[in-house]
Amino acid sequence: MAQNFDMVVIGSGPGGYVCAIRGAQLGLKVACIEREHLGGICLNWGCIPTKALLRSAEVFHLMHRAKEFGLSAGQIGYDLGAVVQRSRGVAKQLAGGVGHLLKKNKVTVIMGEATLTAPGKISVKTDKGAEEITGKAIVLATGARARNLPGLEADGDLVWNYKHALQPPRMPKKLLVIGSGAIGIEFASFFNTLGADTTVVEVMDRVLPVEDAEISALAKKQFVKQGMKIIEKATVKKLDRASGKVTAHIEKDGKTETQEFDTVISAVGIVGNVENLGLEKLGAKIDRTHVVTDEYCRTGVEGLYAIGDVAGAPWLAHKASHEGVMVAELIAGQHPHPIKPNSIPGCTYCNPQVASVGLTEEKAKAAGYEIKVGRFPFIGNGKAIALGEPEGLVKTVFDAKTGELLGAHMVGAEVTELIQGYVVGRTLETTEAELMETVFPHPTLSEMMHESVLSAYGRAIHF
Ligand SMILES: Cc1cc2nc3c(=O)[nH]c(=O)nc-3n(C[C@H](O)[C@H](O)[C@H](O)COP(=O)(O)OP(=O)(O)OC[C@H]3O[C@@H](n4cnc5c(N)ncnc54)[C@H](O)[C@@H]3O)c2cc1C
Repeated sequence: MAQNFDMVVIGSGPGGYVCAIRGAQLGLKVACIEREHLGGICLNWGCIPTKALLRSAEVFHLMHRAKEFGLSAGQIGYDLGAVVQRSRGVAKQLAGGVGHLLKKNKVTVIMGEATLTAPGKISVKTDKGAEEITGKAIVLATGARARNLPGLEADGDLVWNYKHALQPPRMPKKLLVIGSGAIGIEFASFFNTLGADTTVVEVMDRVLPVEDAEISALAKKQFVKQGMKIIEKATVKKLDRASGKVTAHIEKDGKTETQEFDTVISAVGIVGNVENLGLEKLGAKIDRTHVVTDEYCRTGVEGLYAIGDVAGAPWLAHKASHEGVMVAELIAGQHPHPIKPNSIPGCTYCNPQVASVGLTEEKAKAAGYEIKVGRFPFIGNGKAIALGEPEGLVKTVFDAKTGELLGAHMVGAEVTELIQGYVVGRTLETTEAELMETVFPHPTLSEMMHESVLSAYGRAIHF
């Protein structure tokens, strides 16, 4: 006999598990179905294990700088296996925590692959056979996977996707990273710091192409200083694979050159998991590889919602979780606000870190705003100097007419922790006046957030 639920969530990534818990908190009878690992890509193969790897690279980098701090460190080295083992351990610990949280909130977890068979009906293929369940509301949170471009397909040996790169079979000596979005540049940063001769090819005119152009340029300067080679406005047309080496055909300015590498990481985007869910039969619309939704994550099919990566960009865990909460509240009869795309922060944990929220200078101008721009460099900040991190910039973009904070863009140490101050500001629809009035603690990197605002209005003190 079918088990009946108020809400069934398919997928247990940061979209799905958060949605399930919020629904249960609001008194709904909830099931969460997962075919692989609780916690989804984020906890198992994305956000968390990459940050654990990058932390090892950061410590390694700092060990090399020991002398600068009056310290000594002999025989600096690493054991890649141990670095990876730590990363897998961190991922395992957090994924285990998700199981515990779901249990604590009395969410029924069903391990198996879900397919929608009719409106409100789901069949789950489990180890023990097919299980039929019904849900008054169904939330798709099936996530996404690495995009495989023809000719650049990952094989796990010479050409890796992010899953391979998280469990590398060897340390690359000469590495090509295709794509300089967050995923590509984080892996480039990790392997480059550990000593791989790293080249990044980006099809757009700059690295980290969604970021403010000035921030991309400053980040690039640091990557190059660290020995990375960056080829922009270029395309990898073909990879010839032979024993132990790959020849990449790289096209730039109409000319094709070949270069040899021992390892390639393909980070050319992701595609939504929309297949084999029975969506077409129900009439849900799919645009390329994501489910089409409205601002409340409704698919247009009665009782069917889609959240997170499967519902399209930005492909970020916190966007997935926020949508999960909103949808659960909607299903429980509350009146939540839809997420504001321009208030979703984006963070990249390369060295130097990059973080942003809202409109870039270019986009603000293109949207017709008359703007005021503030800039404050790390070199003018006491804490940055004390930390030995004098490179970086905090940039703010204001509407000159209203003083609204339109966007904030940062590059440098710990900016992924700083950005949230401006995100709160955007939620509160803050203007330059409140930000200038705010007292920032000294000495902190956050003082640069204050100074950047002051600078937009010609009042910066320390620069
Ligand atoms: C290397 C890497 C690094 C990243 N770093 C960051 C970062 O630092 N910050 C950030 O915000 N984002 C980061 N991301 C992106 C982030 O991981 C995703 O945005 C996030 O995981 C999306 O959450 P989700 O719940 O939509 O889907 P997912 O986390 O992909 O979870 C979907 C789940 O659904 C399951 N599933 C799919 N189909 C079915 C089915 N038919 N039946 C049952 N279960 C199913 C899958 O097994 C999966 O567990 C990173 C991604 C990668 C790959």
